[in-house]
Amino acid sequence: MKLHTKIVLGLALGAACGIAANQLAPGAEWVRWAGDNIANPVGQIFLRMLLMTVIPLVFTSITLGVAGIGDIRRVGRVGARTLIYFLLSTALSAAIGLVLVNWFRPGAGLAPEVREQLMTTYRAQAQGLQAAGTTHFGINTFVNMVPRNPIQAAAGMDLLGVIFFSLVFGAALTLIPEDKARPLVRVLDAIGEAIVRIIDLAMKLAPYGVFGLIFFTTSIFGWGILNTLSKYVLVVLLGLLLHGAVSLSLLVRVFGGLSPRAFWSRIGASIVTAFSTSSSNATLPTNIAVAEEELKIPPKIAGFVLPLGSTMCMNGTALYEGVTVLFLAQVFGVALGLTAQIVVLILSVITAVGAAGVPGGSLPLLMVVLATVGVPAEGIAIILGVDRILDMCRTTINVCGDLTAAVYVARAEGEWDPRPLNEKA
Ligand code: ASP
Repeated sequence: MKLHTKIVLGLALGAACGIAANQLAPGAEWVRWAGDNIANPVGQIFLRMLLMTVIPLVFTSITLGVAGIGDIRRVGRVGARTLIYFLLSTALSAAIGLVLVNWFRPGAGLAPEVREQLMTTYRAQAQGLQAAGTTHFGINTFVNMVPRNPIQAAAGMDLLGVIFFSLVFGAALTLIPEDKARPLVRVLDAIGEAIVRIIDLAMKLAPYGVFGLIFFTTSIFGWGILNTLSKYVLVVLLGLLLHGAVSLSLLVRVFGGLSPRAFWSRIGASIVTAFSTSSSNATLPTNIAVAEEELKIPPKIAGFVLPLGSTMCMNGTALYEGVTVLFLAQVFGVALGLTAQIVVLILSVITAVGAAGVPGGSLPLLMVVLATVGVPAEGIAIILGVDRILDMCRTTINVCGDLTAAVYVARAEGEWDPRPLNEKA
């Protein structure tokens, strides 16, 4: 059986067993025990195997990407293309979410007693979030992208800091004499290859890891709350589906020249990993492997665009943020006119760039957006109960968006030809 099929099987079985355990033995001691002592540890080992490759992978792939592109001006052009694509695709996604939430108005019908009940249940969690996260978004957010100490940035998993250092380091390599740079490039190349082998090993664990992660999540998830918030959840899911199936497919076709069929049929491993881990960062190693091996994108482009994308390009997150802010505004009866909604759109895009690619990474910033447009930030408590499910779905779209960016940049730079993939599709 192909690994890919095994992973999908692990996902389906894990979800089925988790939901069955949740429904047939609600709150049972043994389900908790199995989740805590078997499913979650297996899932966490898989996740950590992926995560431990992230820092060396980001450093080597970005440095080699920049050094491989060679000319600094060209690096600038590739960087500009990448960032513009990130911003436009994210804005498009957020706009879809805003149209849908205005259309369906999911928050208008939420009964005040349900609202109060949810607020009471999740208040402590919401306050913890506010205390832990960045509650301020301003010029320092950008200043902080430049690390004081690259080792500390790496140790703290501050990916933006590591990315910044790697970009500058790669650029510096192109500025020193070639005979000095070459040995280092070869070492980094070897590290990169070894990391890819580790990722291959980790992916062998994927079917079991994915089973464990999904079992754990679904077995303890409060499914009842999905009913209460069903309209909101459906609007988010519909938006993500539309953005994925329609906009991303169109972007891949128009800007990448790649048939959407070829694209979607080749990126299954990224989709499943993102869905089960809810983390763009944890999916980055798989995403790079998929881009290089399945989509045949040259490593210097994939290694440059995808690490940036895993923290800066979050199509799904922006859509989710936009819908959530408007949903909560409807719940609290705060009227947001066109101008306020444009502010929501812009802030959703900016905060999606700033959000960390970890489970729930966007939540602290979402509270900032809520507060900025005058919706009570602690209202986020209302949606916390369904956040994990939505996180799995929005992360999937985030990661697919990153791959479309790599497709676009590779094509626009004349580094890649989609025709062989189209012919095989
Ligand atoms: N979990 C998301 C990601 O890693 C971030 C978020 O929206 O919370 O892409």
